[in-house]
Amino acid sequence: MVDYFIVGQGLAGSCLAHKLHKENKSYKIIDIVSNSASFVSSGMYNPVVLKRFTPVWNAEPEIEKLYQVFREFEDLLKVKLVYNSDLYRIFANEDEVKTWKKKSERNENLKPFLDTQIYNSINPYIKADFGMGKVFKSGKIFVRELLREFRKFLLKNNNLIDDIFDFSFLKKDNGFYNYKGIKALKIVFCDGYALKYNPYFSYLPMEGVKGETMVIHANGLELTDIVKSKVFIMPMEKDYYYVGATYHYREINDEISEEGQNELITNLNKFLKIDYKIIKKFAGIRPTVVDRRPLLGEHPEYENMFILNGLGSRGVMLAPTMANELYEFMENSKELLSEVNIKRFN
Ligand SMILES: Cc1cc2nc3c(=O)[nH]c(=O)nc-3n(C[C@H](O)[C@H](O)[C@H](O)COP(=O)(O)OP(=O)(O)OC[C@H]3O[C@@H](n4cnc5c(N)ncnc54)[C@H](O)[C@@H]3O)c2cc1C
Repeated sequence: MVDYFIVGQGLAGSCLAHKLHKENKSYKIIDIVSNSASFVSSGMYNPVVLKRFTPVWNAEPEIEKLYQVFREFEDLLKVKLVYNSDLYRIFANEDEVKTWKKKSERNENLKPFLDTQIYNSINPYIKADFGMGKVFKSGKIFVRELLREFRKFLLKNNNLIDDIFDFSFLKKDNGFYNYKGIKALKIVFCDGYALKYNPYFSYLPMEGVKGETMVIHANGLELTDIVKSKVFIMPMEKDYYYVGATYHYREINDEISEEGQNELITNLNKFLKIDYKIIKKFAGIRPTVVDRRPLLGEHPEYENMFILNGLGSRGVMLAPTMANELYEFMENSKELLSEVNIKRFN
């Protein structure tokens, strides 16, 4: 008998399992390695919506929690996962410069995140005719390393079942869940876009947004910060960079497409003025909800059956906070924020 049975070891399931581990709860997690959103994620965190220069919902506390939780993962797994780096937004025209100046000087919610100074290009190979603005408190989490190392940790401790979860084997016996002989008091679904095929929660309005990214090698670029125009370029190591991401709302699948890759290349070439080689391509589906808020809560009919999902395009910032919120709800009956509670769709 365990306290918790978790389905899915993406960012959501990993952050929840980490919280359970910290609180000395017993748990099993079932997951099959896939092209999950977490696996293909670029891992960038950024407290500002860079299209309109508006603050991300709940940004300040989420960033604090992100640092805390991913540093705890670093200590547990003995691997470096958190990379702070500034992010520079290339301005497209004079109007954007004016808006940035006004918001960075006068908007109280944006002041902690936007530098008031306007910069010339920070790198000789990056074209920025109208200059750039700097965003503080952004950076990158090495998500793939996190998933890989945490998986090893879970396997070593006999917490992970490396298999597909088959819903037909889930039974309810005398107040606990039974999955192929494993008994658990509570079950939590952290199954990302596969929620669509989850017979208990598929009534929730998940849309899914397809995204594509690529890794390039640009010898001699020596860029150390993230630069964002229509697409972003983000340093990894030794002149290897992530480039991302596309947002496609139709034809939702996790296949690399010519259209998606061309979109990345066209937008990158507008500001990157150095030769580069494409090394790797990725595609995946963001688990996005119609109102762009996460999905947390208990099933309206099945007691002790929970969900942690809907992290959309911001899994890195949301997962640590939302895993904590759900834990407090499940263990200490702390009320969930109405914006994230699945009751909003009852
Ligand atoms: C191209 C792309 C780039 C992105 N870049 C960023 C970024 O830079 N920053 C950011 O914050 N966010 C980014 N995101 C979004 C982020 O990746 C997601 O918000 C986050 O990963 C969602 O995590 P999750 O754990 O909810 O879902 P998932 O990562 O999809 O994890 C679900 C897990 O459940 C498993 N699973 C599901 N069903 C079953 C079953 N029946 N049996 C066994 N296992 C099952 C899956 O195999 C998977 O491992 C990006 C997304 C995409 C697609």
